[in-house]
Amino acid sequence: MKIESVCVCCGSSPGLLPEYLEAASKFGRLLASRGITLVYGGGKVGLMGAVADGALEAGGRVIGVIPKSLIDKKVAHTGLTELHPVSSMHERKAKMADLSDAFVALPGGVGTLEEIFEACTWTQLGFHSKPCAFLNVMGFYDSLFAFIHNLVAQRFLKPEHLSSLLLETDMDRLLARLQAYEHVSVDKWIDR
Ligand code: AMP
Repeated sequence: MKIESVCVCCGSSPGLLPEYLEAASKFGRLLASRGITLVYGGGKVGLMGAVADGALEAGGRVIGVIPKSLIDKKVAHTGLTELHPVSSMHERKAKMADLSDAFVALPGGVGTLEEIFEACTWTQLGFHSKPCAFLNVMGFYDSLFAFIHNLVAQRFLKPEHLSSLLLETDMDRLLARLQAYEHVSVDKWIDR
């Protein structure tokens, strides 16, 4: 799969460990160095600001999609390649999905989880066929993936759907795995 744009979901907070901000900045620079457009929520704060600044500093293309109400609260990044104001969070997520070939979650809070899990759900239901990856900085997503494996054990998630949920600690490998991803359509409702 040719990945030309990636939607990054990540915290609007900096988080506890300095490694989180460092990883966001580095991931932004990596996307830029590969010529991959960064699509994200358009904020200037926390990891969101760091990933955007990293990409911009390295000469990358960055598209922000942000509700007008958040622009009014002055949290929007003002130096992006493109900033798309939208009317609602629903419109924002639909727009970010349209503009992206894949989704990557960096560390973040409930907003991050909500965005990446909506994208995963759309992949699972076949509304799109885009992979979702979690960059596991300092083991941040270990407990979430333990829980996700429990979803399989408890038969709420088909093992086949796990292949569209990538957990990776290394950024280069994460991008390589996104490029190598081949979507297998699995009907959510048919028992194997
Ligand atoms: P959270 O992980 O709870 O900090 O939420 C981060 C996600 O929610 C981001 O990917 C954004 O799309 C959205 N979001 C939350 N806060 C902001 C903000 N101040 N500016 C722009 N987007 C935000």
